[in-house]
Amino acid sequence: MIEKVFRTRVWDAYSQDETCASISEYECGCYHIDHVYGYVELIDIESTGNRRVAEIVCTGLLNNAWPLIRYRVGDRVEYEIVDCCPKCGRIGPIIHEIRGRTGDVLVTPSGRFYPHISLIVNRLHGVRQVQLVQKAVDKIIIRFVPSEEFLDLEDEKKMLDSFSKAVGEPISWSLEKVNEIPRTAGGKFRSIISEISN
Ligand SMILES: [Zn+2]
Repeated sequence: MIEKVFRTRVWDAYSQDETCASISEYECGCYHIDHVYGYVELIDIESTGNRRVAEIVCTGLLNNAWPLIRYRVGDRVEYEIVDCCPKCGRIGPIIHEIRGRTGDVLVTPSGRFYPHISLIVNRLHGVRQVQLVQKAVDKIIIRFVPSEEFLDLEDEKKMLDSFSKAVGEPISWSLEKVNEIPRTAGGKFRSIISEISN
């Protein structure tokens, strides 16, 4: 639909909030690693023939403020080793498929998926962190850590409005104000926790 409306071609790309690795779709129809963005190591998990599945481990080259070295993102790719792409000449490998994060996603009553909430969270006022906990397909808790600027009634209402408008489906949203949102044992912040089964 986007291609039709804007009369253009949509290109796919992969990266992370942590700015460590970027993989883009090119005119050759393949995905390639953007080597200037970060140094990407592919740690093989399994291989069949010339296809391999690997975990991405990356060292970002663009984030001077918070450099991450050999960062294990938790994402996987299916790839093929080549010196350079036979169609466009870019340095290999060829990435055939990006298998997203194994992390949680929100599922709406109509069956839509939301793996990221940062675009909504970035527009909120007076919050340090937000974590969504999905209790049921129509029941989501917005757990948040307020900053000093947080205005109880006003910002709470705005937060509820922002999420319900962005998702736009019959979901019961509730708020849970906390002092801290614990990280995983591996030190990662989970923006979404799904407590519903597959
Ligand atoms: Zn290519």
